Amino acid sequence: MALREKKKRVGELYERYELLAKPYTSQAVCSKGCASCCIDVGSVGATTLEGLIILEYLQGWDPRAKQKMNLSLQQNRNEKLNSALARCAFLDQEQRCLIYPVRPFSCRRLYSVRRCDGQGPVIHRRALQIGKQMEQALQKLDPEGCSGHLSFVLDLMGNKEFLQAYLRGDWNSEEFREIIQPYGLVVHKDAPTGARS
Ligand code: SF4
Repeated sequence: MALREKKKRVGELYERYELLAKPYTSQAVCSKGCASCCIDVGSVGATTLEGLIILEYLQGWDPRAKQKMNLSLQQNRNEKLNSALARCAFLDQEQRCLIYPVRPFSCRRLYSVRRCDGQGPVIHRRALQIGKQMEQALQKLDPEGCSGHLSFVLDLMGNKEFLQAYLRGDWNSEEFREIIQPYGLVVHKDAPTGARS
Protein backbone atom coordinates (compact mmCIF):
# COMPACT_ATOMS: atom_id res chain seq x y z
CA MET A 1 0.00 0.00 0.00
CA ALA A 2 1.33 3.46 -0.91
CA LEU A 3 2.43 5.72 1.93
CA ARG A 4 -0.19 8.35 1.10
CA GLU A 5 -2.94 5.72 1.37
CA LYS A 6 -1.53 4.49 4.69
CA LYS A 7 -1.58 8.00 6.12
CA LYS A 8 -5.18 8.39 4.98
CA ARG A 9 -6.05 5.13 6.73
CA VAL A 10 -4.52 6.41 9.97
CA GLY A 11 -7.01 9.29 9.90
CA GLU A 12 -9.84 6.85 9.15
CA LEU A 13 -8.89 4.70 12.14
CA TYR A 14 -8.95 7.79 14.38
CA GLU A 15 -12.44 8.60 13.08
CA ARG A 16 -13.59 5.02 13.53
CA TYR A 17 -12.44 5.00 17.15
CA GLU A 18 -14.24 8.29 17.78
CA LEU A 19 -17.46 6.81 16.42
CA LEU A 20 -17.24 3.42 18.16
CA ALA A 21 -16.18 4.85 21.51
CA LYS A 22 -18.67 7.73 21.48
CA PRO A 23 -21.21 6.02 23.79
CA TYR A 24 -18.43 5.94 26.42
CA THR A 25 -16.41 9.07 25.68
CA SER A 26 -19.60 11.15 25.69
CA GLN A 27 -19.61 10.62 29.48
CA ALA A 28 -16.16 12.22 29.84
CA VAL A 29 -15.71 14.99 32.39
CA CYS A 30 -12.61 16.29 30.56
CA SER A 31 -12.63 20.03 30.00
CA LYS A 32 -10.58 22.61 28.13
CA GLY A 33 -7.46 23.58 30.05
CA CYS A 34 -7.17 20.24 31.85
CA ALA A 35 -4.08 18.47 30.56
CA SER A 36 -3.53 15.84 33.25
CA CYS A 37 -3.10 13.15 30.60
CA CYS A 38 -0.35 15.21 28.90
CA ILE A 39 1.49 15.78 32.20
CA ASP A 40 0.83 12.85 34.53
CA VAL A 41 0.87 9.97 32.07
CA GLY A 42 4.23 8.25 31.77
CA SER A 43 4.24 7.49 28.08
CA VAL A 44 2.70 9.10 24.99
CA GLY A 45 2.73 6.24 22.50
CA ALA A 46 3.04 6.61 18.74
CA THR A 47 3.87 4.49 15.73
CA THR A 48 6.48 5.56 13.19
CA LEU A 49 3.67 6.24 10.71
CA GLU A 50 2.02 8.60 13.19
CA GLY A 51 5.48 10.11 13.81
CA LEU A 52 5.86 10.74 10.09
CA ILE A 53 2.53 12.58 10.00
CA ILE A 54 3.65 14.73 12.95
CA LEU A 55 7.04 15.48 11.34
CA GLU A 56 5.29 16.63 8.17
CA TYR A 57 3.04 18.88 10.26
CA LEU A 58 6.10 20.37 12.01
CA GLN A 59 7.66 21.20 8.63
CA GLY A 60 5.10 23.99 8.33
CA TRP A 61 6.44 25.71 11.49
CA ASP A 62 8.86 28.62 11.34
CA PRO A 63 12.52 27.70 12.05
CA ARG A 64 12.59 29.38 15.47
CA ALA A 65 9.51 27.48 16.68
CA LYS A 66 11.02 24.26 15.35
CA GLN A 67 14.29 24.90 17.14
CA LYS A 68 12.42 25.58 20.40
CA MET A 69 10.43 22.39 19.94
CA ASN A 70 13.57 20.36 19.31
CA LEU A 71 14.94 21.56 22.65
CA SER A 72 11.68 20.63 24.41
CA LEU A 73 11.73 17.20 22.79
CA GLN A 74 15.32 16.70 23.91
CA GLN A 75 14.36 17.71 27.45
CA ASN A 76 11.41 15.31 27.35
CA ARG A 77 13.69 12.47 26.25
CA ASN A 78 16.16 13.22 29.04
CA GLU A 79 13.39 13.30 31.65
CA LYS A 80 11.81 10.16 30.28
CA LEU A 81 15.12 8.31 30.35
CA ASN A 82 15.63 9.37 33.96
CA SER A 83 12.15 9.06 35.44
CA ALA A 84 8.73 7.63 34.68
CA LEU A 85 6.85 10.92 34.17
CA ALA A 86 7.65 13.70 31.71
CA ARG A 87 5.40 16.57 30.64
CA CYS A 88 4.71 16.23 26.92
CA ALA A 89 6.94 18.49 24.81
CA PHE A 90 3.95 19.51 22.70
CA LEU A 91 1.98 20.95 25.62
CA ASP A 92 2.34 24.74 25.75
CA GLN A 93 2.22 26.97 28.84
CA GLU A 94 -1.54 27.52 28.37
CA GLN A 95 -2.03 23.73 28.47
CA ARG A 96 -2.79 23.55 24.74
CA CYS A 97 -1.57 20.79 22.46
CA LEU A 98 0.61 22.31 19.73
CA ILE A 99 0.02 19.36 17.39
CA TYR A 100 -3.66 18.83 18.19
CA PRO A 101 -4.81 18.04 14.60
CA VAL A 102 -2.15 15.32 14.25
CA ARG A 103 -1.80 14.11 17.85
CA PRO A 104 -1.26 10.35 18.02
CA PHE A 105 -3.91 7.79 18.84
CA SER A 106 -2.68 7.30 22.41
CA CYS A 107 -3.83 10.88 23.11
CA ARG A 108 -7.12 10.48 21.27
CA ARG A 109 -8.19 7.46 23.28
CA LEU A 110 -7.65 9.07 26.68
CA TYR A 111 -10.61 10.48 28.59
CA SER A 112 -12.00 10.07 32.08
CA VAL A 113 -15.48 9.76 33.58
CA ARG A 114 -14.11 11.15 36.84
CA ARG A 115 -11.79 14.11 37.42
CA CYS A 116 -8.27 12.71 37.46
CA ASP A 117 -6.85 14.97 40.21
CA GLY A 118 -3.48 13.26 39.88
CA GLN A 119 -4.93 9.75 40.22
CA GLY A 120 -5.18 8.82 36.56
CA PRO A 121 -8.23 8.48 34.32
CA VAL A 122 -11.23 6.18 34.73
CA ILE A 123 -12.14 4.69 31.36
CA HIS A 124 -14.89 2.22 30.41
CA ARG A 125 -13.61 -1.28 29.84
CA ARG A 126 -15.29 -1.47 26.44
CA ALA A 127 -13.61 1.78 25.33
CA LEU A 128 -10.28 0.30 26.40
CA GLN A 129 -10.98 -2.80 24.29
CA ILE A 130 -11.90 -0.73 21.24
CA GLY A 131 -8.76 1.35 21.77
CA LYS A 132 -6.64 -1.80 21.89
CA GLN A 133 -8.12 -3.02 18.61
CA MET A 134 -7.41 0.33 16.99
CA GLU A 135 -3.86 0.28 18.32
CA GLN A 136 -3.32 -3.13 16.74
CA ALA A 137 -4.80 -1.89 13.47
CA LEU A 138 -2.36 1.06 13.54
CA GLN A 139 0.54 -1.34 14.00
CA LYS A 140 -0.69 -3.51 11.16
CA LEU A 141 -0.80 -0.47 8.95
CA ASP A 142 2.88 0.14 9.74
CA PRO A 143 4.43 -3.36 9.52
CA GLU A 144 7.87 -1.98 8.66
CA GLY A 145 7.81 0.47 11.54
CA CYS A 146 8.00 0.55 15.30
CA SER A 147 6.24 2.14 18.29
CA GLY A 148 7.05 3.72 21.58
CA HIS A 149 7.15 6.99 23.46
CA LEU A 150 6.52 9.87 21.03
CA SER A 151 9.71 11.88 21.58
CA PHE A 152 11.77 8.68 21.19
CA VAL A 153 10.00 7.74 17.95
CA LEU A 154 10.57 11.28 16.61
CA ASP A 155 14.25 11.10 17.53
CA LEU A 156 14.64 7.83 15.63
CA MET A 157 12.89 9.38 12.64
CA GLY A 158 15.21 12.37 12.82
CA ASN A 159 18.02 9.97 11.91
CA LYS A 160 18.31 10.47 8.13
CA GLU A 161 19.59 6.94 7.45
CA PHE A 162 16.71 5.44 9.38
CA LEU A 163 14.12 7.66 7.74
CA GLN A 164 15.31 6.83 4.22
CA ALA A 165 15.42 3.10 4.95
CA TYR A 166 12.00 3.25 6.67
CA LEU A 167 10.48 5.04 3.68
CA ARG A 168 11.97 2.37 1.41
CA GLY A 169 10.64 -0.31 3.79
CA ASP A 170 13.96 -2.11 4.14
CA TRP A 171 15.52 -1.04 7.45
CA ASN A 172 17.18 -3.53 9.68
CA SER A 173 16.51 -3.28 13.43
CA GLU A 174 20.05 -4.54 14.19
CA GLU A 175 21.56 -1.52 12.43
CA PHE A 176 19.67 0.87 14.68
CA ARG A 177 19.88 -1.19 17.86
CA GLU A 178 21.82 1.55 19.66
CA ILE A 179 18.86 3.89 19.31
CA ILE A 180 16.01 1.39 19.59
CA GLN A 181 17.17 -0.46 22.70
CA PRO A 182 17.69 2.40 25.19
CA TYR A 183 14.38 3.89 24.06
CA GLY A 184 12.61 0.55 24.48
CA LEU A 185 10.95 0.86 21.06
CA VAL A 186 8.88 -2.07 19.82
CA VAL A 187 9.80 -3.16 16.30
CA HIS A 188 6.53 -4.32 14.75
CA LYS A 189 7.97 -7.03 12.54
CA ASP A 190 9.88 -8.53 15.50
CA ALA A 191 7.07 -8.20 18.05
CA PRO A 192 4.00 -10.30 18.87
CA THR A 193 0.72 -8.54 17.94
CA GLY A 194 -0.37 -5.97 20.47
CA ALA A 195 3.08 -5.31 21.92
CA ARG A 196 2.97 -1.59 21.18
CA SER A 197 4.02 0.54 24.12
S1 SF4 B 1 0.68 15.23 21.88
FE1 SF4 B 1 -0.77 16.80 22.54
S2 SF4 B 1 -2.55 15.66 23.39
FE2 SF4 B 1 -0.81 14.23 23.27
S3 SF4 B 1 0.18 14.28 25.29
FE3 SF4 B 1 1.24 15.79 23.97
S4 SF4 B 1 0.20 17.75 24.35
FE4 SF4 B 1 -1.14 16.10 25.12
